[in-house]
Amino acid sequence: MAKVILTHQRRKRIEKGHPWVYKTEIEKIEGDFNPGDIVEVYDHKGKFIGKGYINPISQITVRILTRNRDEAIDRNFFKNRIMTAFEYRQRLGFNGSFRLIYGEADFLPALIVDKFEDVFVIQTLALGMDRFKSVIVDVLREIFEPRGIYERNDAPVRELEGLPLVRGSLYGHVPDKILIEENGLKLYVDVINGQKTGYFFDQKENRLAIKPLVKDAEVLECFCYTGSFALSAARFGAKKVLAFDSSKEAVELARENAALNGLEGICEFHEGNAFDVLRHFHKIGKKFDVVILDPPAFAKNKQALEGAIRGYKEINLRSMKILKPGGFLITSSCSHHVDEDLFWEIIQSAAWDARVNLRVIETRTQAKDHPILAASEETRYLKFFMLQVIK
Ligand code: SAH
Repeated sequence: MAKVILTHQRRKRIEKGHPWVYKTEIEKIEGDFNPGDIVEVYDHKGKFIGKGYINPISQITVRILTRNRDEAIDRNFFKNRIMTAFEYRQRLGFNGSFRLIYGEADFLPALIVDKFEDVFVIQTLALGMDRFKSVIVDVLREIFEPRGIYERNDAPVRELEGLPLVRGSLYGHVPDKILIEENGLKLYVDVINGQKTGYFFDQKENRLAIKPLVKDAEVLECFCYTGSFALSAARFGAKKVLAFDSSKEAVELARENAALNGLEGICEFHEGNAFDVLRHFHKIGKKFDVVILDPPAFAKNKQALEGAIRGYKEINLRSMKILKPGGFLITSSCSHHVDEDLFWEIIQSAAWDARVNLRVIETRTQAKDHPILAASEETRYLKFFMLQVIK
């Protein structure tokens, strides 16, 4: 097994539990290896740190899988890790449909597994993890006896690892639409053509948290995808919900989901660009009691930060303008590169420009099936603020 020796100058991030070894932190590599192989990682004094997989073309050259020198990276390793992740979620009350494996935070770097009842969707986002795909499928079959397992490896981050973008069935039967339940709502999920793995489990607890704000309210949602926030609002007593998404497929599925829950009389779904929609309502002077914003990550990387800040500011500023006095702004950002402090700064600067004052009702983050690993800030990404807009 090849040995990766780390530099003397680097900070002790990896020793503190962060699983990534950057290319710039490597002094030298002793021994032969192929891309994707398991290697040992040592500090500059020769002290063993851990074992992980290597990909020399990736800036994240090694991702550590274990800190135990005697632990083999084999089928049993994956079975133990997956069982531990499953038990954690069971203990926290998740059942049916949830994120089963959240990569680094479940000590399986670059692996995502979402469970939709008896169908599993997986992403192996790094070369070393991709190599274990058939082992992972095998272990999932043993533990869960699923109906089908599907890979959504069409995520662009795979290109940084030299991996192709692919999607397809890995086992059994995967239906076009899967029925799941969330907080008492019935929802169809399209894991084959939907966005990412088909569904955003990370907002599950936040969808419940909006309950006290939406009763009898007129609600606008601007990035509704397949309707989970809008339908939650309707179920919690909103009088009327208008929801928009730029994706035609998402809007169609949202309408089906409304009908499935008998909420089509309250929720209206339309295709529309959030920036235009917000501008339109401002122009015609229409006001809402609640505005919900859950945009895609505007900052996919550090280079895109400036544009992302402008985007976040604009949608939040426009939303503040079309809220009634004392209305509620429910706003989120899933860009890791926009941290909570920065997001809050953006919101405050929007409030200043809109000439409103804000009260923070609650600040929240991602659901517990996306645990945050303290040593790895990258695992913390979702910001979710519930604000009152004082005019
Ligand atoms: N709130 C949703 C998830 C939203 S994901 C939920 O709880 O499930 C972000 C959504 O924004 C995607 O559905 C995407 O199609 C949509 N989107 C991206 N850019 C948009 C834009 N400019 N205007 C409206 N929708 C947009």
